Amino acid sequence: MQGVIDRIVLTSALVAACVLPAEGGNNPVARVTAFVKLDVKPPAIKGSLWLDRNTVEGRTPIDKNGDTDYTDGELYLARGPLMAYVNRQFLVMWDGKIHPMVLEDLVYDKRRDAENPFVKLVFSIPGYAADKEIVIASMLLADMWKSASTMISLTMQERSQVFVLGSKDYFDSRLARPEKGAQARFACAENCLGVELKTRSEKCPRCGGPIVPVAGARVPGAGYYGIHGGSLMPFIPAPLKLEGLLTQTGELRVYATNDALEQLKVEGWSGTARIGAEQAPQNMMEQVELAASPDGSHLRAEIPKGVRPPVRAICTIDAKDGKGRRMVDFHLDEVIEVSPER
Ligand SMILES: [Zn+2]
Repeated sequence: MQGVIDRIVLTSALVAACVLPAEGGNNPVARVTAFVKLDVKPPAIKGSLWLDRNTVEGRTPIDKNGDTDYTDGELYLARGPLMAYVNRQFLVMWDGKIHPMVLEDLVYDKRRDAENPFVKLVFSIPGYAADKEIVIASMLLADMWKSASTMISLTMQERSQVFVLGSKDYFDSRLARPEKGAQARFACAENCLGVELKTRSEKCPRCGGPIVPVAGARVPGAGYYGIHGGSLMPFIPAPLKLEGLLTQTGELRVYATNDALEQLKVEGWSGTARIGAEQAPQNMMEQVELAASPDGSHLRAEIPKGVRPPVRAICTIDAKDGKGRRMVDFHLDEVIEVSPER
C-alpha cells in the first residue's frame, strides 16, 4: 500500500582505521571515495564501482610488472581477489539475504575529477523482483582510510538519487526524506566530486549530467573542488569563490563562482600572481600579470618556465567591486585538461 517502497539502509561499520601513507598522483578525496552507480531494474540490479588505482594497489595489488598501467592479464588475475573484497565490504540485501555481485567486466577507466585512472568493476546482482525493499551497507575502503566514503548514485523506477555514506552513517531511505527544516541538497547523478548544490539546477555545472536529490553525508570534495576540477578558495568578503587551476596548455586560470557553483564573468578584473614550486621561498617566486580572457570567463597567466606541480600561486585580485585587491593563496598539485579555445 505504500506504493514505491525503496528502502535502502546504508550502513558503514566502524572499522579500526589504519591510515596508509599519502602518495602523490591523485587528489586525496578521490582516493578515499568509492563511486557506485546502481540501476535497479527487475530482474537484476546492474551497477558499476570505481576505485582509485593507487588505493586498489595498496589494498589488493594488481600490478605484476612494475609499470603504472594494468595489462588485461593483470586485470584478469585480479578479478577474484577484488570481487572477494568488494563482496565483503559492499552488501546489497533484500528478503533478509545478502545478494552477491557477479562481475561482468573489470576495466581501467578515467574520471574527469581525478588524475589517476580508476579500476572500474561492472557487475550485476541477479534475482531482484520488483518492489523489493533494498538494504545497502558499505564498508568500502573503511579498512584503509578513516575518512572513507561511498558515493552511490541509484536509479530506481525512473527516479535517481545520490547517497553518501561516511564511515559512521546509517541510512534508511524510508526515513531519508529531508528532515523538517533541513536544507535541501542536490548533487550530480554522475557522482562528480565536490558538486553539492543547495538549489536544484538544470544540470551538473561540471559534467552536464542530471542533478538529483542527495541524502546522507556531505558529498566528498564539497568546498574543495571547483566545476573545472581545480582548487576552490573563498574570496572574502565577497560572497563568491575563486577556482584556481593549472592547465595542460601551461596556464594558471582563475574562475569565479557563486555558492551554487555557477560561473561568473570576470570582465574588468585584474591582478597579479606570484607563481612557484610549492616549497619555494616567496622571494624565488616569479610575479606575472593576471588578465581576463577575451570571453571574460576567467583570469589567466602563463606559468613561468620550469615550474611544475605541485605549484603555489599567490594571487592578488581586484574584482572591481570597490573592495580593493585581495589575496588568494592556491596550492595546485594537478594539471587539468581544458579545451584550449575557452
Ligand atoms: Zn557531474
